[in-house]
Amino acid sequence: MQHVTNKFKSKIKAARLIQFLIVLLMIQSISCTPWQRHGVPEKPDPRYFTYDQILDQFARWDSEYPGIFQSEFIGPTGSGRDSIVAACISSSGSRQNKRPTLIFHAAQHSNESNGTNAIIEMMTRLLFSYGHDDYYTSMVEGLNIWFIPVVNVDGHRKAFAGIDGWVDWRKTLRDNDRNGLFSGFADGVDLNRNWDHRWHEYPDKGPEHSMYKGPHPFSEVETVVMRDFILRKNPLFLMDYHSPGVVTPGNVVFWPWVDKETGTSGVDAPVYAPIAQALVERTLTEVDSVFMKRMASYNTLPKEQCWVYANTGLCVFLMEISSKFWWEGPLVNTIAERIADGSFYLMERALSGPGVTGQVTESLTGRPIEAEIRVTEIHDPEIGPRLCNDAGMYWRLLTEGEYTITAHWNGQRSEPKQISISGAQWVTVDFEIEPAR
Ligand SMILES: [Zn+2]
Repeated sequence: MQHVTNKFKSKIKAARLIQFLIVLLMIQSISCTPWQRHGVPEKPDPRYFTYDQILDQFARWDSEYPGIFQSEFIGPTGSGRDSIVAACISSSGSRQNKRPTLIFHAAQHSNESNGTNAIIEMMTRLLFSYGHDDYYTSMVEGLNIWFIPVVNVDGHRKAFAGIDGWVDWRKTLRDNDRNGLFSGFADGVDLNRNWDHRWHEYPDKGPEHSMYKGPHPFSEVETVVMRDFILRKNPLFLMDYHSPGVVTPGNVVFWPWVDKETGTSGVDAPVYAPIAQALVERTLTEVDSVFMKRMASYNTLPKEQCWVYANTGLCVFLMEISSKFWWEGPLVNTIAERIADGSFYLMERALSGPGVTGQVTESLTGRPIEAEIRVTEIHDPEIGPRLCNDAGMYWRLLTEGEYTITAHWNGQRSEPKQISISGAQWVTVDFEIEPAR
């Protein structure tokens, strides 16, 4: 009997203990925010640059390096309270359109700051090494290199303010529910689903979804600013830095593109895929000695990479940096340094070629014209047009081989010119086009 009573008492004790634990858990879930429960800090690691720190740094560099550094605001943000800052590192001054241009940008998704830090690392090296180190000096003297550390400035400020769910806050601050307040995940648009590419095929996931594409294509002013900036600069390379969440693979460079249904590669695959391969072989992951992968991007999503490639044919890469959004401690800097190390390959390639370059002018007046350049062997009427810049200059990346080049403008076509590419070099081919009759 005594034995049975003891057994009964211990059962009651166990039940009370379980009850106590349940109540404790309930209190925890009410008082603690999700990230505290999972041991995530209250804010990003201080090694990540805030937007104000970037603005301060750019202002200092403007005064310290006036000959090679120029920052400017390229457009407003959705909130109307901020502007998107960009900076060019180049010794070319006002003659920018005579050199190949590269654009590196990060944080279309405001919780993906590894690319932002990689950009600051690249800029620091170029500025500090100019005049002392031939490798970086040749880039400053031969190229125009544009950097946009944060595209989604409004979202970035929210994430860095440590709002509830900051770890996953990737969207803009569009007031989807029109209550005049910031309503967390009920608000905001995913900037990298807001581009007008196969828009209707991408499902409307609803405003509260983290990948909400917005009410219509280019509904977000940030997307419009980026589109117009890219078209204006007409770069040889465009890099869009991201970091992966749960679904996306990490440590990957995506090149454009492969058809999702047929599995057919885009017309530029013979040129762009090997560049992506060289880029990944030069880029270490956060885990020592492991190289990144390259993958073909599908041609379906309404994202920047697809829109830009479809409408210009430009060589645009999307890099998923590391294996998660946020890091803590010294790895924040290690990752930025490794991404910078790898990314300088694109500057090397822009300087060395191989490819074809030249200028197109009108035959009577000699004025430069923004003609379309076609490489017959790499031509798909669905991609492009691939235009000269406002100085009539063009650069087309190629691999070794024989090519036929023509310039097209205003219904006129130039005589075709044959070129042979062997080794790393830029072959110069200029065109004159008759004015339209
Ligand atoms: Zn992203």
